[in-house]
Amino acid sequence: MKRIVLLGPPGAGKGTQATGISQKYGIPHISTGDIFRANVKEGTPLGKKAKEYMDQGLLVPDSLVCDLVEDRLSQPDCENGYLLDGFPRTVFQAERLDSFLGCASSELCVVDIEVRPEALLPRLTGRRVCIKCGAPYHVLTKPTRVPGVCDICGGLVVQRADDSEETVMNRLKVYDSSTAPLIDYYGDGRLIRIDGEKAPDEVFADITSAVGE
Ligand code: AMP
Repeated sequence: MKRIVLLGPPGAGKGTQATGISQKYGIPHISTGDIFRANVKEGTPLGKKAKEYMDQGLLVPDSLVCDLVEDRLSQPDCENGYLLDGFPRTVFQAERLDSFLGCASSELCVVDIEVRPEALLPRLTGRRVCIKCGAPYHVLTKPTRVPGVCDICGGLVVQRADDSEETVMNRLKVYDSSTAPLIDYYGDGRLIRIDGEKAPDEVFADITSAVGE
């Protein structure tokens, strides 16, 4: 049973690592960003509200996020653990998660993927993603074989609306003020620090050796 939280600034490689981690441990990958993006695409009431914040690089209010995550964690596929990617992002959300988990909260593995601030901007603005299967790419470090076409599923590969330079700057500020305090919050023995500037395969190996079997 593994309950894992992926922490780290935008551009640290959480999405890239998430697929492999969820496969290795056989646990669902729960990305609040992906849930919001799916709602925006479908034009649901939640999606309409979330879009106002996402487009500016701001956090969606805690009240909209916490219930959504608790509902998702109550689904049967989460009984044997899960990987949270992009949640919690505030101390309030972390406290809600702890009270939801009760005594199991002490077993939470919080993986902080660390990348220096100056390395994040080029990672984010060069990032591209497949709109069909979600596979991540980067114009410099991981381009598609055919420009604009996903290597895996042939879907269209685009830049996320919130990966423009201006929005990225806001997202990094929001990370510093609202999410970075979680590093202290989980410094009670639950935090695993990982060097996120190594090659993706090495980062993966470091994460799985620290989290264990
Ligand atoms: P991500 O894909 O994780 O970078 O999330 C994209 C955007 O969705 C963020 O910039 C926020 O606007 C919103 N979002 C995702 N997760 C959360 C969260 N836990 N709390 C608040 N907003 C979130």
